Amino acid sequence: MFLSPTRSLSVRGPDPVARSGGAYGASRIQGRTAYKHRGVDLVCDPWSDIVAPEQGFLWRIGLAYGREYRFHSLVVDLGIYEMKILYSWPIRNTGDQLQRGDALAIVEDLRIRYKEVTPHIHVEIRKDGKLVDPMPLLESE
Ligand SMILES: [Zn+2]
Repeated sequence: MFLSPTRSLSVRGPDPVARSGGAYGASRIQGRTAYKHRGVDLVCDPWSDIVAPEQGFLWRIGLAYGREYRFHSLVVDLGIYEMKILYSWPIRNTGDQLQRGDALAIVEDLRIRYKEVTPHIHVEIRKDGKLVDPMPLLESE
């Protein structure tokens, strides 16, 4: 089991930005394209800490939305698993080794992009490269 990066398991409910809520597999529509939510949205306060889910390495730091420099993504290498976290300002460098519970990033404030959104981070987990439902793998503190 991985420690939840927010230390809690509170999942985003329906809000004006995503009426289907933040569960894994929830229906999403972008323009004319329908797709399923690839991760889970965990509710958290902007500027709160994001912690490492388990021993691993900070593998990649990128941007959550193309050339929108306010919102970041990071990927933690956890062996056969990898965890991607969106809307998180990293406070470590790529290649840094992490221990479970280490402060890793700060929650970015999505409300400056989506006024009515429930503040959250987006968490995706891959096992052997394939997306899986994160919730059965996460535990709260
Ligand atoms: Zn999401």
